Amino acid sequence: MKAAICYEAGAPLKVEEVTLDEPQVNEVLVKLMASGVCHSDLHFMKGEMFCAMPVVVGHEGAGIVEKVGPGVTTVQPGDHVIMMVSFSCGKCRFCIEGRPTMCVENMAIMAGSVLPISGATRLRKGDQALHHLFGLATFAEYTVVHERSCVKIRDDAPLDKVCLLGCGVATGIGAAINTAGVRPGESIVIWGAGGVGLSAVMGAKLAGAGKIIAVASNDKKLALAKEFGADHMVNYKQDDPVAKVMELTGGGADYAIETAGRAEVIQQAYASIHNGGKCVVAGMAALGTAVSIQSYEFLLGKAITGTVQGDIRAQVDIPRYVDMFMDGKLPFDKMISKTYSLDQANDAFNALEKGEVIRSVVKIQ
Ligand SMILES: [Zn+2]
Ligand SMILES: [Zn+2]
Repeated sequence: MKAAICYEAGAPLKVEEVTLDEPQVNEVLVKLMASGVCHSDLHFMKGEMFCAMPVVVGHEGAGIVEKVGPGVTTVQPGDHVIMMVSFSCGKCRFCIEGRPTMCVENMAIMAGSVLPISGATRLRKGDQALHHLFGLATFAEYTVVHERSCVKIRDDAPLDKVCLLGCGVATGIGAAINTAGVRPGESIVIWGAGGVGLSAVMGAKLAGAGKIIAVASNDKKLALAKEFGADHMVNYKQDDPVAKVMELTGGGADYAIETAGRAEVIQQAYASIHNGGKCVVAGMAALGTAVSIQSYEFLLGKAITGTVQGDIRAQVDIPRYVDMFMDGKLPFDKMISKTYSLDQANDAFNALEKGEVIRSVVKIQ
């Protein structure tokens, strides 16, 4: 079977024949149907974030369970599943507190690019172990993952669309609804209109936000933000975006969500909320990026917080989001502007980096 491998930071992916071992205790073998192309992978491929190499990339995967290892109870062969970028063990303090995306296992999974708990890899090229990015490795025809990395969904949902819920779309929706906690009538400004930003617009709309402002530089993306529910679109190449948000909100928004993963944008997002407002940083910046904030702003009661996959509770929220997608209430498939084959994995990442696509999907089977 084939998989897209990053052998070293900065090198292009190689799509090659690899070997996949049998699923072990609590693991499942999944036949991947599609995988979204998410910007986070690029940080690892370029060496801006660290992970063990060589690594099979991809983390927005959806597929069908082919086989289960010993002890698996939550899924069975034939189940349709979406894989989750954040793992939850169900046992640590954070999981038990109801904050599963904060699970203590995640840092080791991300840095080690290994399966959760066991620390193993099931992918090989000859004798060489291949790692699983985020414990997943979805740019492959098949993968083996921990059963708790999968969420079972209804059989009639199109896997080449709902795969986006594995990371970007869930992060955006959840950042607005869960992390920001937008309530009806409140104002929110969303910085960046990629997959996460546009999903945050949808989340804010669902939550009943009174005023949704989208900030980006690409007019096509801003037009889609409008379609998803943004009331005001600000092109930062034409207007000073912080000044514009101040004007539109009469002194600052209740919430800001940053999705660009850039220090200057995080600073602008924080500057765009009023006293007592809350800024949520959802974007992934390169490792070592520092953000500068004037400390007096904390005396104004302004909060800044991060989010992991939108603070969702995957087993509950993902099937709900799938239902809403099927009912036309979360039309995130509108942001998929291109599809690729697995052999075109490099083209997919190149187009994403150049801003030529909002979201694209690699169709695997
Ligand atoms: Zn992602
Ligand atoms: Zn946990």
